[in-house]
Amino acid sequence: MRFEIQAECPVTGARAGVLHTPHGPVETPVFMPVGTQATVKGVLQRDLAEELGAQIILANTYHLFLRPGPELIRGLGGLHRFMAWDRAILTDSGGFQVFSLSDLRRIGEEGVLFRSHLNGDPHLFTPASTVDVQLTLGSDIMMALDECPPWPVDEAVAAEAMRRTVRWANTGYAHYLRRREETGSAQALFPIVQGSMFPSLRAECAARLGELDADGYAIGGLSVGEPRGTSLEIAAFTAALLPRDRPRYAMGVGMPEELPEYVARGVDMMDCVLPSRDARNGRLFTSEGRVIIKQARYRDDSGPPDPACDCYTCRTHSRAYLRHLFQAGEMLYSTLATIHNIKYYLDTMRRIRQSILSGDFASCMDAMRSVGLE
Ligand SMILES: [Zn+2]
Repeated sequence: MRFEIQAECPVTGARAGVLHTPHGPVETPVFMPVGTQATVKGVLQRDLAEELGAQIILANTYHLFLRPGPELIRGLGGLHRFMAWDRAILTDSGGFQVFSLSDLRRIGEEGVLFRSHLNGDPHLFTPASTVDVQLTLGSDIMMALDECPPWPVDEAVAAEAMRRTVRWANTGYAHYLRRREETGSAQALFPIVQGSMFPSLRAECAARLGELDADGYAIGGLSVGEPRGTSLEIAAFTAALLPRDRPRYAMGVGMPEELPEYVARGVDMMDCVLPSRDARNGRLFTSEGRVIIKQARYRDDSGPPDPACDCYTCRTHSRAYLRHLFQAGEMLYSTLATIHNIKYYLDTMRRIRQSILSGDFASCMDAMRSVGLE
């Protein structure tokens, strides 16, 4: 997997580039819509590609492992064919969901033992088995198994989790290299830097994972309840320790107003359930701030959800119609709202990318800061 840097901001750490994947180019910085169950909830693949211009989406290994199962997906031609998405896919390792969703987790050196949240069946995820599951799914970018501690956490506990993450990354990466040799797979594996909010632990982790010479690196352990400023500081500190010529992925961030902030700190890839989940819950991100669609003020509002947006929803429907669908609990509401919110995120990233290429990212960031979405 080749990462090409096209421009760098002279003032901040922002970069614009292209990540060349087996399923097409991904222009960075990029926001990846989340497709947990091999679907971005409520949105047709056709609309994701043609209407929204998404070049990569994220799918969750934990969910697909439990249902319908990786072997079934492989039998049906792999994840791309199964879900009819011929652009890039990133899968996580499943570790994060094991820690957040499953019952009776037991972490050992070998891996993490857990029970399915669906039927209670016991399963073991190991550094090698999660690579195998992702190889079977056929995603373009796979993630290494990691241990993401909660926040706040004692430094000793964070250190133990970080060192286990490094050992797991080494085991998983060695397994990945063997399998790549055997199969000629073009899939990439990104290790994840942990270390909670302790700079010395982040530095140790980044240095040791750097020895793997991976195609890209993730910054994990953010968005676990810490203050926003702390997340940004740790992201900046960690990004600066990672190889300049590899993509850097900040997992699970962020709010729309945070996108330029992470980019400014040298992050190239992000994902977050926020635009789709907030859409379904009645919150739209717009150039005029957040629109809470159930509010009575939109009852007879004939204007588009966002006058500055050219998505299908904004070209076609009024705030009053969306409010009506929301109040009536209609399925179409979720589809229309999700299309808009994801477009808002992707357009924000495209504007950021364009400004880096044209050399005025700093003023673009100032303009975005002044919008204030709260
Ligand atoms: Zn729109």
